[in-house]
Amino acid sequence: MSEPVIRTQGLSKTYGPVQAVAEVDLDVREGDVYGFLGANGSGKTTTVRMLLGLVLATAGTIEVLGRSMPSAASSVLPRLGALVEGPGAYPHLSGRANLVLFDAAARRGGLGRARRRARTNEVLEQVGLDPADSRPVKTYSLGMRQRLGLAAALMRRPPLLVLDEPTNGLDPQGIRDMRELMLGLNRDGTTIFFSSHLLTEVEQMCTRVGVLDRGRLVLQEDLATLRAPTGRFVVRTPDVGPAVSLLDGRVERRTPDGVVVRAEDPAALNAALVQAGVRVSGLTPLSHTLEEIVLAASEQR
Ligand code: ATP
Repeated sequence: MSEPVIRTQGLSKTYGPVQAVAEVDLDVREGDVYGFLGANGSGKTTTVRMLLGLVLATAGTIEVLGRSMPSAASSVLPRLGALVEGPGAYPHLSGRANLVLFDAAARRGGLGRARRRARTNEVLEQVGLDPADSRPVKTYSLGMRQRLGLAAALMRRPPLLVLDEPTNGLDPQGIRDMRELMLGLNRDGTTIFFSSHLLTEVEQMCTRVGVLDRGRLVLQEDLATLRAPTGRFVVRTPDVGPAVSLLDGRVERRTPDGVVVRAEDPAALNAALVQAGVRVSGLTPLSHTLEEIVLAASEQR
């Protein structure tokens, strides 16, 4: 089993009477693209900030990269890349100049200048910014700023990226580029924890999902498990009546053009229907969408 990269137990935060985060047990493992899903105000940003030691928890424990946070912040933070609430940058300097400054401040005499310069160019290209672009950051679009923030997070080749709403405010092309970039980094071995309020976005890219509802983690599971076959099949047929009488107790419900049936073997199901003269125009396994799963998890509260 892969190593835990982020683990919290009973993580909670209250602001006066407001319980922003309530007893959250996160479990993010090496190699995950973990989508942290929740509506506006559900506590995502507060949780991300606690992970990074930017907000102190009211209760609970946090481990990031095997060390306790925030007490080990000085050794943990240099090993991860983070993008929270829009990247900060000096508006009058170019993207490149910003990265050089950021890196120099963070590193103080680590790599030689030539290697640092090469690395700066490399990350700019990686996020789709032109290293030769000397325009000041104040002329950048939101998408370009977001890319620059990610470039800064990537400078030290971190094994873990923590991104708060990385696609917020981006146009569709920007969203697609960010998604491709994140998936590429993950393929190369980076564990990614990102928050989002967009279900489709999470569904499209994550391997594991955590759902926050009013401060509580109502669901945490691998996407593959959530999408696992349900043991039910959707049979499309013009002969609904005969199909129902043949399958009797195994029919779960009728649909406009067929039935949903519990069955173990779709081939045997099809053969039985056809032998009885029921015309089958379609037979597909039923799986739940993430939307259905999330709604069901939230409604159980
Ligand atoms: P969004 O997607 O809108 O950023 P979120 O899921 O990130 O929402 P949080 O920003 O973590 O949610 O907020 C969770 C709750 O905590 C909200 O009710 C919010 O009003 C409250 N909250 C957050 N920060 C503070 C603060 N500094 N002081 C008081 N209340 C706060």
